[in-house]
Amino acid sequence: MPGGGKICAAFGCSNTNIKKHLKGKVSFHSFPFTWGEEYVKAWKIRLKRENFEPTRHMVVCSEHFEESCFEYQNFTGRRQLKHGSEPTIFKHNQKKERQRTSYQFK
Ligand SMILES: [Zn+2]
Repeated sequence: MPGGGKICAAFGCSNTNIKKHLKGKVSFHSFPFTWGEEYVKAWKIRLKRENFEPTRHMVVCSEHFEESCFEYQNFTGRRQLKHGSEPTIFKHNQKKERQRTSYQFK
């Protein structure tokens, strides 16, 4: 285990889960491998990173998702992403993209 720290994969973002002041404010979400390959690809496109291969260990922090992308678990209150959510908020793109993602996969 390399340190156990998670670092946000978004370009220009240096949030990690070992920064104490982020605790409870920023959550980290792994790439949606469980949803399927096409979602992983869509995230990859969103991140606009060249030569970048997402792995199961990579995470994107909650700052890149609209509040409406989150749902909260009943008992734990843990924040998790709604199925099909994509990161849309990036530093290089401060205006929030309002349009609903209507990707046609394939
Ligand atoms: Zn981030």
